[in-house]
Amino acid sequence: MADTSIPLKINDLYKSFNDTPVLKGLSLDARKGDVITLIGASGSGKSTFLRCMNLLEMPDQGDIVVHGEPIKFKFDKHGRQPSDWKQVERIRSKLSMVFQNFNLWPHMTLLENVIEAPIHVLGQPKDKARANGLSLLERVGLAERASYYPTQLSGGQQQRGAIARALAMDPEVMLFDEPTSALDPELVGDVLEVMRELADEGRTMVVVTHEMDFARDVSNHVMFLHQGVIEEQGAPEQVLSHPKSERLKQFLSPRY
Ligand code: ADP
Ligand code: MG
Repeated sequence: MADTSIPLKINDLYKSFNDTPVLKGLSLDARKGDVITLIGASGSGKSTFLRCMNLLEMPDQGDIVVHGEPIKFKFDKHGRQPSDWKQVERIRSKLSMVFQNFNLWPHMTLLENVIEAPIHVLGQPKDKARANGLSLLERVGLAERASYYPTQLSGGQQQRGAIARALAMDPEVMLFDEPTSALDPELVGDVLEVMRELADEGRTMVVVTHEMDFARDVSNHVMFLHQGVIEEQGAPEQVLSHPKSERLKQFLSPRY
């Protein structure tokens, strides 16, 4: 029986680029309310793993199961493809992604950015989407900035706007790819604070990050990737304070 209580389950995922293996058998269970942090050196496969979860990259092998619903694949002359793009669209709307570089649409105001997908993907009435969008902007501290364009906002404000946009889809799981790495240091705290609040509300999140304090204080599970393999994983205290693997010790050591 499919377990519909698990928002996201990944089983034995493989991905190569041009015959170079990048992900080598990765599995992950995100239960409701889990905050899973993915850590690892640059190039270890963190972004590719995250992008495979909502099929921005196509995994070569492995299962992705969202609320008990496995994504269906087929093989054709281009290799492995989803066999039902409608299903992919539906599943993507349940797994919202927040990127390193905010990726707000530059020609739209902040509020327009937030309500675009609810109106065009979920089919929400405009009034409802606007009201909901404004309350989400208020939640991330941007109520007065609703009619600003992205270029008129700081990086931290843009990223909080991108989080509001992701929240507007009421996703089952939020995926974050180094959401604070492109920010000036003084702007990092506000974004982490919003993420901490989401975690406190019980949002299920998978977060690629270099913020070890966030991993330690907010997440309940840490996975350390090394060359496309999960080298070590477990509770933050165990992984970050009592690492077993030499590679993880090395990865953590310059930080202390
Ligand atoms: P991380 O996010 O941990 O820094 P990535 O997932 O971005 O790592 O990259 C893992 C490896 O895959 C790297 O060697 C990178 O060069 C390679 N890679 C990522 N995306 C592509 C792509 N679209 N085409 C070819 N190689 C890629
Ligand atoms: Mg990356």
